[in-house]
Amino acid sequence: MLLLAHLGITFAAARGLEKAVVYRGFRKAPELIDYRLVLVGSMLPDIIDKPLGSLIFRESIGTGRIYCHTLLFFLLLLGLGMLFWYKLKRPGFLTLAGGSFAHYVLDGMWMLPSTFFWPAYGWGFPQENAEAWLEHWLKSLLTDPGVYVPEITGGLILIFFGMKNILRVIDRNKLS
Ligand SMILES: [Zn+2]
Repeated sequence: MLLLAHLGITFAAARGLEKAVVYRGFRKAPELIDYRLVLVGSMLPDIIDKPLGSLIFRESIGTGRIYCHTLLFFLLLLGLGMLFWYKLKRPGFLTLAGGSFAHYVLDGMWMLPSTFFWPAYGWGFPQENAEAWLEHWLKSLLTDPGVYVPEITGGLILIFFGMKNILRVIDRNKLS
């Protein structure tokens, strides 16, 4: 998945989850979800891995799905999240962990077990050709419904919620 699918679908999932838990009586949920962190978490694995693996260590690593696309990274975020929650009642890392988990689902990481379960299959990561990867995605964006449908869906979700709505939620987080 690319940018719009990750941001839009994860944002909608978090809003849906918030509504579901409020409906079930957990009225504090809206105060606990910081949607800025939902959006950052939804892209966090790519924000770190893409520049690191595809640009900085392009010759030695040569792929944009490395350490932050692993179950180990998710467990680290989850562990930090639980620690910060129990010690300080701050849910920020848990939100990042949730956003990153949605990223793995949308990336279909179960299809890349040697990356997702790193280092169970060895210390290396499957290599990719960065230029071929970019070309593949650009082509898929125009021709493959499995790519452009989620992107359009994500874009429509973002438009539906609207910048005004996103800013209102962010403002609410700032005030609380
Ligand atoms: Zn990714």
